[in-house]
Amino acid sequence: MTTNDKSSGSQYLCRRDFLGASLGACAIAPFTRVALVQLATSLSGSLTKEQRDSMTPSQIIEELKKGSERFRSGKMTSRNYLAEKRASASGQYPAAVVLGCLDSRVPAEIVFDTGIGDTFVGRVAGNVVNDDMLGSMEFACGVSGAKVVLVLGHTACGAVKGAIDDVVLGNLTGLLARIKPAIPATKFDGEKSSKNAAYVDAVARTNVVLGLGEIRRRSPILEDLEKKGTIKITGAMYDLSTGNVEFVG
Ligand SMILES: [Zn+2]
Repeated sequence: MTTNDKSSGSQYLCRRDFLGASLGACAIAPFTRVALVQLATSLSGSLTKEQRDSMTPSQIIEELKKGSERFRSGKMTSRNYLAEKRASASGQYPAAVVLGCLDSRVPAEIVFDTGIGDTFVGRVAGNVVNDDMLGSMEFACGVSGAKVVLVLGHTACGAVKGAIDDVVLGNLTGLLARIKPAIPATKFDGEKSSKNAAYVDAVARTNVVLGLGEIRRRSPILEDLEKKGTIKITGAMYDLSTGNVEFVG
């Protein structure tokens, strides 16, 4: 079996079965087109171009939601990373690009239960939008063909706390400045301090929503792709305690 087999539904299934996905479908013959489409909507293995291209942006978002639920409930896909590595070495066809936070507790591939080759992930403290991240997202969607841009914030974000506290520290100062517009833009009744977890999370949520606007405003390429319906730009908040992902914006 080689990576050249990707266009073949039956061979793909064998590869997936080899990966240990809960399919057991190699033994099923004849294999139908309908079943292939259903399997193609799973992100539990390295995506082929055909599978990625067959999905709509909304279907990809649904798959990300299913993946996050698998993670949250402890029912993650059993993976063979070496097999995924081999299968994706000759080409990558990720379905989504995630802009996430540097925080060690929010690894996008794990919290969405995706495999090698399924998602582009850019991480920077506070999941802030900057020129390099925009360029990366434009590559992901405009060149490589990803169909979803997801800005992923999270609860108890240290970068957001730093912005609230007006921390001044080297190059971090400039990074935190990108988060600060979320502070006055957050409507909140209660103590507005980094000690108040609910307030910190409210600002983090606003930071995600403002980030979506920044992407559209500063990237005509991505905005145009979204207007055409080629991609969707959306945001989400990950809860460090529960593992839950709530989509926003
Ligand atoms: Zn963070």
